[in-house]
Order: sequence, then C-alpha cells, then structure tokens
Amino acid sequence: MTSPRDRVDACPGALQTHTAADGELARVRVPGGSLSAHQLRVLALASRELGDGHLEMTSRGNLQLRGLPVVHDLGDRLADAGLLPSATHERVRNVLASALTGLDDEGHVNASPWVRALDAGLVADPALAELPGRFLAALDDGRGDVIGLGADVGLLALSATEVALVLGGVDSGLRTDPGGAVDLALDAARALLAERAAQDSQAWRLAELDDGPARVAARLTARRGTPVEMPAAPLVGQVGAVAQPDGRTALVGVVPLGRLSADQAELLAELADGVRITPWRTVVVPDLAEEAVDDAAVDLFRTGFVFDEASPWLQVTTCAGRPGCAKSLSDVRADAVAAVTTGRLPADGARQHWAGCGRRCGRPAGALDVVATGDGYSIGAV
Ligand code: SF4
Repeated sequence: MTSPRDRVDACPGALQTHTAADGELARVRVPGGSLSAHQLRVLALASRELGDGHLEMTSRGNLQLRGLPVVHDLGDRLADAGLLPSATHERVRNVLASALTGLDDEGHVNASPWVRALDAGLVADPALAELPGRFLAALDDGRGDVIGLGADVGLLALSATEVALVLGGVDSGLRTDPGGAVDLALDAARALLAERAAQDSQAWRLAELDDGPARVAARLTARRGTPVEMPAAPLVGQVGAVAQPDGRTALVGVVPLGRLSADQAELLAELADGVRITPWRTVVVPDLAEEAVDDAAVDLFRTGFVFDEASPWLQVTTCAGRPGCAKSLSDVRADAVAAVTTGRLPADGARQHWAGCGRRCGRPAGALDVVATGDGYSIGAV
C-alpha cells in the first residue's frame, strides 16, 4: 500500500495550536497519562484563565484546552510545570502505558520507568523531532490493555524477562529483556523514519508505509521469537476501587465525555500527589489510605466522576461538535448527554462514538458510529 499522504500532518500541540470555531485549540502531551498534583493545578488554572474552563481528555490519553486566544502564554506555563520539556519534540510525545501498571499485580513488569525513559529518549534525539505528530507508542506491562490501541511502536511484556516489540499493531517477533526494551523501541522509531525516507513517503503512521511493520523490523537487530497474537484493547475502561499490594487503594472514575473541569482537576490535586489519565477517559487516583477512600469517592462523585461500571457514561464518547467545530452538523455533546440522561442511547447502549461529521474525530476502534447527518444521526454507517 502506498501512503496517500501528500502533506505533513497538522496535529496541534501546545505551541502549534489549531484554529477552531471557538478559538485556538492546544493539545498537551501527557506521556503515560501521568500528571503531578502541581501540573493538575497549572492546567486547571490555564483552562480557567485562557480557555473554556475544561480539559478535554483524548483517545490517546492526552489533554486539550479549547477557546484560547490567539496570543497566550500557555507554552510558558507548561514549560515551567515540566509539561513541555522540548519545544521541538512536543507533538511526538504520544506515549500510552498500561493504566494501572505498578499499582496492582496484573502486569509482568512495571511500565512506568519505561514511560519516563522513552519520553527522555525521544526528546534527547534531535532526529526524532521529525516523527509525525500522529506517532504513537504503547507500553504494555503484559496485561494487554494498551497494546491493541494501534500504536506505531509498542512494547508488550510477555513475562518478567521477555518483551515483544510490536510494530503497527503486529508482533515483529523481535525480543528483548525489560532493561533493553526502551532502547529497542527508540531504534524502531528511528527505523520508521529511515524507512519513510527510503520510500520517499509522507506517511503519518507506520502501517501506512509499504509493508511497514516487516520493513521496519528488518532494520533492527534483536533476538527473534515466535510471533504472538496481539490482545484486543478493551472498549471500556476499568472503573471502581483497585486494591494495591501495599494495602492502599487506587480509585478509577470515568469523566463523562472526557470533559474534565478545572474544579475536578483541582480536587484531584488535593486528593493525591499525582494521577493518571487514560485513553478511556478515566482518571486513576492512586495510593489512597483505607480511611480516605470513601470520602474521596464521595467528593469525586459530587463533581461528576462516575464509578459504576454499568453506567452508560462508560459507553459514550463524542467529538467536539458544535459550537467548537465549524464542520459539525450538530451539538453532539448536548445530544449525547440528552440520550444518556433520558435512557435513549441507540443500539441498546452499545459502546458508541458520536460525531458531528464523517471524519469521526477521536473515534475509538470498535465503537459504533453515531454520526450527525444534519437531519438526525446515522447509526453504524457513515
Ligand atoms: S468529527 Fe467532524 S464535527 Fe467532529 S470534531 Fe471532527 S471535524 Fe469536527
């Protein structure tokens, strides 16, 4: 397959913003979804003072601020808070990690050190600033929650001592140990660029290159194993209380439609030293003492977090829609809220993504399409 791209991608960042109908839109990369309490406060204040008072959670576990003026100091605020370590690499720092890694016993390894090392390695190599803004890395501790989310370069722990390199969603068969895994992933990112240049391509994703996974793998040196099938990513995120091996508890709540308010972000900053945001529009609040769990859950519930795994809010995501996007044929958020609150979600409440036009921005793989037509919505067909 030859890449159809005839231009470089225009993914927004914190510095290279996108002009939307409601103002400038900035996307803040949050590798591994990890945010300190201080960073939460900085983002909350920025959303209040510069934007619309909300932080939009994306399907790649990043955050967006909307409604910004053309001239603003968001970049300086983020840099001061450690959220913009490189002006040249900001758009390529798309790194997913297993949401509960290191907090429970489900993974073979703790992927959090991989996140920090991969992010540092990306930023340290000037050549990797040339990666497309669509570049995505997924670091899976072995539980299989993020490796199926369509990353260009992925690591999947197969055991405590063996890690598979996954390219374009396919097991490359290349193997390493946990200590060498990040270096192999960085080499794969460089090989992606080399292969893209060799094909004289502007591909935005590894899978868009001719025979991309195999040709990128052929540029790498590592021991070989028998390729394994990749687990499918879960359609909805885990919510509720998760017991940590150290006796503390992680609370996981979904943010309806992924619109985290400044008030919610500030409450999170009061409850924990840091949190994780996930691609399922959930927030993990770790390390809660036993006696603090109930009060934290009540406080979060009062501000709109949902902890009921049967809630329809777990099943629905939307694009921005009107008034934020000029292309939208409807106010999809308002329509989706009305459908949830009146119990009238289509398709018996199956996992669904509502969009204001056929581009279906932010659509998670496997979700049913609910697309505005200008005269209602089409369900499941665009
Ligand atoms: S799907 Fe269409 S309406 Fe929705 S944000 Fe994307 S371009 Fe705008």
